[in-house]
Amino acid sequence: MAISRRELILAAAALHAVGRRALAQTMPSATQPARKALGWAIVGLGNLSRRQLLPALTKTSRARLAAVVSGSPEKDRAVGEQYKLGAAHRYSYETFDRIKDDADVDVVYVVLPNGMHAEYALRAAAAGKHVFCEKPMATTVADCRRMIDGCAAARRRLSIAYRMFFEPNLTEARRMCRAGEIGKVTSITSRFGFNAGGGWRLDKQLAGGGPLMDIGIYSLSAARFLTGEEPVEVSATIEQPADDPRFKQVEAAMDFTLKFPGGAVAECKTAYNANLGASVRVVGERGWINLNPAFGYWGNQMTFARDGKVEWFKSPAVDTFAAEIDDFSRCIMEDKPSRTPGEEGLRDMLVIEALYRAAAEGKPVRL
Ligand code: NAD
Repeated sequence: MAISRRELILAAAALHAVGRRALAQTMPSATQPARKALGWAIVGLGNLSRRQLLPALTKTSRARLAAVVSGSPEKDRAVGEQYKLGAAHRYSYETFDRIKDDADVDVVYVVLPNGMHAEYALRAAAAGKHVFCEKPMATTVADCRRMIDGCAAARRRLSIAYRMFFEPNLTEARRMCRAGEIGKVTSITSRFGFNAGGGWRLDKQLAGGGPLMDIGIYSLSAARFLTGEEPVEVSATIEQPADDPRFKQVEAAMDFTLKFPGGAVAECKTAYNANLGASVRVVGERGWINLNPAFGYWGNQMTFARDGKVEWFKSPAVDTFAAEIDDFSRCIMEDKPSRTPGEEGLRDMLVIEALYRAAAEGKPVRL
């Protein structure tokens, strides 16, 4: 959702008032030792929050659940009871801005429909909190830039929840590609698709787009992650069958191609009308890497061949949700850069906008 100029000015004014207190909350001082674990507020108690993030926050060492924000009194009460969170730390969307006075909260994790990310990230920064935000970072390049600028003005950190950076199979695949172990990478093929039932994911304003925004972004992000390059040319075709009532506002599927400066070409498909699974295949001049499933919460598998010898990567078990949460806490506590700052989300969004443009114009778009 777009943030008005007036809202930004108001937010900037509020920042002066909260800046000092917010810094004192997370930074060690001469009299106050650094906290061992930062307090995290989860905004939105949907599927991801309740099934993955709240359980992950019981496994983290540098982060602990400090607050929740929900529109549903039932979910709010149930989560409060299950995680022993007092009513003073449970907010509604209407009372969310009071979080600025909650000294237990250092980081706000935005887990709302995509079109609401920018608004809540900016309100969190204006409340003096660091911001962790689900992917896609926002639904437009302009909103991504507003989030980066708003957090910088508030001197708060911003990081995007890209699990890929903590997933052992994908990080090993990246190491192999970058080390030249399969030779020069020539092609990447990736699929991610499922059959969407309904809800906000099919609503253009709340989702920003169809499967590309939601899951195609994994294929796009993986291609950038594995090559370490930004695409220079993209092309795309959209499928939007008139006889499927689910797809009045967003695309049903998209085929897209990304050309990288080093010569690699990524061919990807994403869909809300077909169960494509979630896979990545990388082919190099001396070998290949198969990640299938590639993007699951757990159970991902990787096989590869180097100079004709096929092997299976014995991946350690990692809870990527706990890992990314702990890592962002560590970055804040140690004043280190995040692996997945707002700029990383912006780079994906620049490509996503170019892909929609390429599909609309029916011709490749240079970046
Ligand atoms: P969900 O529909 O299960 O939850 C969304 C939450 O937002 C609900 O609690 C809902 O009540 C709340 N909400 C507030 N205002 C709303 C409104 N106007 N319309 C609809 N819902 C509203 O969705 P989810 O699957 O939990 O996804 C939330 C975010 O997390 C999305 O940005 C999605 O892309 C992201 N996500 C990331 C991963 C991952 O692996 N990193 C996985 C799933 C979802």
